[in-house]
Amino acid sequence: MVCRLTGRQGPRAVYYICPTHHHKRTCSFLNDPAAQEPTGPAIIPRAEHNVSRSLIAPSALKVLYRLRDAGHQAFLVGGCVRDIMLGVKPKDFDVATNATPDEVRALFRNCRLIGRRFRLAHVRFGQHVVEVATFRAVHDPGEPDEEGSIEEPEGEAELEAERTVAPDDQRLLDHRGRILRDNVYGTIEQDVWRRDFTCNALYYNIEDFSIWDYVGGVTDIRSSTLRLIGDPEQRYREDPVRMLRAVRFQAKLGFSLDPATRDPVPALADLLDGVPPARLLDEIQKLFLTGHARRSFDLLREYRMFEHLFPATARHLEDEPDGMASRLLAAGLASTDERAADGRTLTPMFLFAVILFGPISVAAQRRFDGGLPAGQAIAEACDEVVVSQVRRVSLPKRYSIPMREMLALQPRFHRRAGRKALALLTHPRFRAAYDFLLLRVEAGEEDPELGRWWTEIQEIPLEERQRRVDALAEESGPSDGGGRRRRRGGRRRRRPAPQT
Ligand code: ATP
Ligand code: MG
Repeated sequence: MVCRLTGRQGPRAVYYICPTHHHKRTCSFLNDPAAQEPTGPAIIPRAEHNVSRSLIAPSALKVLYRLRDAGHQAFLVGGCVRDIMLGVKPKDFDVATNATPDEVRALFRNCRLIGRRFRLAHVRFGQHVVEVATFRAVHDPGEPDEEGSIEEPEGEAELEAERTVAPDDQRLLDHRGRILRDNVYGTIEQDVWRRDFTCNALYYNIEDFSIWDYVGGVTDIRSSTLRLIGDPEQRYREDPVRMLRAVRFQAKLGFSLDPATRDPVPALADLLDGVPPARLLDEIQKLFLTGHARRSFDLLREYRMFEHLFPATARHLEDEPDGMASRLLAAGLASTDERAADGRTLTPMFLFAVILFGPISVAAQRRFDGGLPAGQAIAEACDEVVVSQVRRVSLPKRYSIPMREMLALQPRFHRRAGRKALALLTHPRFRAAYDFLLLRVEAGEEDPELGRWWTEIQEIPLEERQRRVDALAEESGPSDGGGRRRRRGGRRRRRPAPQT
C-alpha cells in the first residue's frame, strides 16, 4: 500500500513524507491493516467538538466569513483552536487562508501587510488585530507580532558565508540549520507541516465548522500531550525558539512533553545562543508575564535552557542554590503569577530586576566595599550586569533604566527619620521600589519591620506621617536627622542592597 500524500512506501512501515521538509511520519492509517488509504485530514464534524462560534471573537468571525464569501478557504488555526478545545479563553485569533496577502488586503479596509520574512495581513478592529496568514509551503521560524519587532540575525554580512540553501531550494539556513528566510505560498496540506506542535496544527473550517486534523492533534489535546510535528531534532535546529515554546505550553497548558519531543532538548539548549536577543525578549515575556512564571522557570532550569538565557543568574544560583537571590526569585515569580491571575499590570523591568538581582547585588557589594555610596554602587552594578545580559536577551532602555532607578532606591528605605524621608513616597518609582522591598523582606534579606513601616506610612494621614518621621528624627539626635549615619551597630551585612 502506498501513502497517497507521497506515493512512497517505507521499508518496514509506510510513511507520510512531508512534501517540503521530508519529515517522516508513520502513517497510522496504513499501518492499520483494516484501515483504508488516507484521504487527507481527519475531519471532526461540528457535532463532535466543542469549538462553538460563541467562543470565537466576532472580529475573527467577520474575517473568516468575508474570506469565505469571496470564494477563499478560511480557517482558524493555532493556539485559538487549541485553547477553545481546552476550555481556555484564547489570547488572539489567527486565520489561515489560500487568499494571497494582496487579496486579503483588497477585502478589508482596516488591513495592513506586515512582515519581512513572510507577508502577513493584520486586520484591525479597534484594539483587536486578527492575523491572516496565507498558507505556506515551508515554515517560518516566528513571524514578528508587530512589524520589525523581530530583528534580522545580527551581522548579516558576516553570516552570509555560513548560510546554506536548504535541499528544497526555498529556504535559507544558517550553519546550524536555523531558517533565516523563506517565502513560499502553499496549500493547507503544506501549511500544516510548518507548524510546531500537533496541538497547534488544528484548522477550524468556517465552511462547515468542522476541524481538520492532519497530525493527530485532537488525540494529543485529549491526552494533554505536546508533540512536535516531524523530526524533533531537525525542528529544534530549524528554530530553537520551539524549545522555549515547548516549555511555555507545558507550563501554560499543563501538558506533558512526548518523550521524543522532550529528550533532545537539554543537548540542543545551546542553540538558543544563536537566536536574536529581541526575539528571546518576546518569548521571555510570554513565559514569565502570563501567569505561569514559576513553572516556566523550573522547566527552563530542568531542560538547561535557563543558563543560555540568563547566564550570570544561572551561575549565581549554582554558587548559592539556597541563597537570598534564589529565595527572592521564588518570591518574585510567585507574586508575578498572583498579579497575572488578578489581572494587574506586569512589567518586564520588574521581572528582570527579580531575575538579575543575584548578580546585581554581588556587583553592588563589590563597589560598596570599595567605598561607593550604596545607591551609586547599585546603579553601576545594574549597568555592568545589563551590558552582558543584553547579549542574550535584549532589555531595551525603557525597561533597564527604570529597573536601575527602582533598585538604586532600595537603600533609601532605611532613611526614615526626618521629613526628607517622606519625599520617597512621591518618587515616580516608589511603588515598584516598595514592591521590591517587600520581596527582599520575604527573601529574608531585609528586616520585616522595615517593610511594615513603609506599608503603614502609606496608609496613614499626612499629619500622622509627619509626626512619625519627626519623632524618629528626635530619637536619633540632631546629627542623624538626614538619615545618613552608618548602619546600626556598624555591622555590614553581605549582599543586601547596601544602606547609606
Ligand atoms: P499563544 O497565542 O497562546 O501564545 P499560539 O500557539 O497561538 O499560542 P502563536 O505564537 O500565536 O502561538 O502562533 C500561532 C501559530 O503559529 C502556532 O499555534 C503554530 O501553529 C504556529 N507557530 C508559531 N510559532 C511557531 C514556530 N516557532 N514554529 C512553528 N510554528 C509556529
Ligand atoms: Mg496565538
